[in-house]
Amino acid sequence: MKDIEDVCATCGGDGYIENAGSRNRCPTCRGTGRRVVAEGFHDVTKTKASHHLRSDPKGAAAPKPTWPTTFEGAQLAGEVRDSRTLTQDAKDRLIREIMEHETSHGQCTQTFLKKVRKQVRPKA
Ligand SMILES: [Zn+2]
Repeated sequence: MKDIEDVCATCGGDGYIENAGSRNRCPTCRGTGRRVVAEGFHDVTKTKASHHLRSDPKGAAAPKPTWPTTFEGAQLAGEVRDSRTLTQDAKDRLIREIMEHETSHGQCTQTFLKKVRKQVRPKA
């Protein structure tokens, strides 16, 4: 069965166009009757996509942490997330800072909690 995708749309796969009684070579496919695409374009895309899906088991098995693991950290991150004054970028950055702080200190220090809360509630 011939794949319709591979047939030249200009000549319908003949490779030639009838024009006022004369038979001319199709300018689109240059007489091949095949659709002209960038070489290997479709195949490369398909291969890449499936390759990417199959070769990324790490991402599924060990997702990057997106939320603090300590009670104080999670509570603080919640305050950051619910803040009405911070931009989304600032929130993302602060929550990332909290997780990094946890990773390096093992917990959230009072100093750190105060520092972040000042940014969440600047005038409270
Ligand atoms: Zn053609």
